[in-house]
Amino acid sequence: MARTTPPRPLNITEFFPELREHSTTATRLHPRPGAASVADSSAGGPLLWPADEAWPVCGDAGAHEPNNLTTPAAERRRREILATANAREPLPGGQFLTAEECAELDAADALDLADLIEDPIPLVPVAQLYRHDIPDYAGPDGTDLLQVLWCPLDHSDQHYSPRVFLYWRDSSAVGPLLDAPLEPPVISDMYLPAPCVVYPEQVREYQYADLLPEELRKRLDEWDEDEDRPGYQSHLSRAPGWKVGGYGSWSLTGPYPMNCSGCGAAMTLTFTAASADWDGMDCSWRPAEDDPAASPDTVGVQIGRGYSLYTFRCPESFDHPPATAMQ
Ligand SMILES: [Zn+2]
Ligand SMILES: [Zn+2]
Repeated sequence: MARTTPPRPLNITEFFPELREHSTTATRLHPRPGAASVADSSAGGPLLWPADEAWPVCGDAGAHEPNNLTTPAAERRRREILATANAREPLPGGQFLTAEECAELDAADALDLADLIEDPIPLVPVAQLYRHDIPDYAGPDGTDLLQVLWCPLDHSDQHYSPRVFLYWRDSSAVGPLLDAPLEPPVISDMYLPAPCVVYPEQVREYQYADLLPEELRKRLDEWDEDEDRPGYQSHLSRAPGWKVGGYGSWSLTGPYPMNCSGCGAAMTLTFTAASADWDGMDCSWRPAEDDPAASPDTVGVQIGRGYSLYTFRCPESFDHPPATAMQ
């Protein structure tokens, strides 16, 4: 089943034609739980990774913070226990969990894992995106695959969020595949994406209001004061959720420059991982096919207090390091 963003409640360019010059496209990924193969685009799914290329690790142990630590196996089991409990009739006595389930979760909570963050941490797959699925794919010439991985711990030099790594490949040049990717011995329970298939959909976006020319932003603010109108920031400008390309939100800190650490160029938003695929019950961006009562947390990732993690790339060179902002 495809996922379809409902039409915007109104076309903002009928009121502000000049917004067309501050517009771009984004590909919403719409990740939903499901098993993808290495030949598919996915979130949290298996990567097409060559056998002769070592699985990447984060060697930045000095930045790792001991927050919400668990193991991948314990986190998967926790999710399984909660899903089972949610799906069954209430237990006699009204308890949500059985005594055995409580004991299992308590044992996982009691694991002492803090020493493990001092070691290099194998990265976890966040997304794998084939050019033929993603209208807003951007990558070096000759590549058709973007792989996004992150180090699944809070980093003190990354505003307490995961460190993101981008890999581009020519999938036709990948020979034998790595049998068993390394798994980190320790993760934050917020940063383990559940295996998801994706339903890419291209949408049009308009720039975050505070980044528009001041004169335009002022007129837009005045127009926005009419409460009978759908808000520009929440309904008319940028899609929430997991996406490639498009514009970011700066609602947490206000905009600040994202400049390449390699060459100083102003960077381009290339990938967004989010705590939710849409924002709450009455969100106009919820795909038409999704039940209004469904949880928008389809991937099981939490960025801060329900924020998004925006990954930027350098427009001058794909070899320059990416940078992230949490908003
Ligand atoms: Zn790290
Ligand atoms: Zn650069």
